[in-house]
Amino acid sequence: MNMSGRCAGCKYLRRRCPSDCILSPYFPSSDPQRFASVHRIYGASNVAKMLQELMPHLRAQAAETLRYEAQCRIQDPISGCVGVISQLHQQIQDTECQLAKTRAEVALMNSDGQEPPQAQADQQI
Ligand SMILES: [Zn+2]
Repeated sequence: MNMSGRCAGCKYLRRRCPSDCILSPYFPSSDPQRFASVHRIYGASNVAKMLQELMPHLRAQAAETLRYEAQCRIQDPISGCVGVISQLHQQIQDTECQLAKTRAEVALMNSDGQEPPQAQADQQI
């Protein structure tokens, strides 16, 4: 499959890249850092084993997930991608809080100088 040479995984491991190399489709030689990251965190043989145990149509997504998680773990050795998830949860909470405040302000502005909401509701019926 890889006529021009070894995939990033085989190059990194200094081995021959077989035509049916499990790493080759997901770790091209054009992006050596991609394999270096997953190898550093999971180890090459574990990555190969994980990919082999999956149905072929799931391997690309799994390789991408391993790359992302490895990159997060390298950047934040303590929390890894959980750190990113926590940050996003915090942002959602902050935004929900801001939205609730804004809605309360809008409700207050709408009720200013007008009849109480109870009376308005009665008129509509
Ligand atoms: Zn290979």
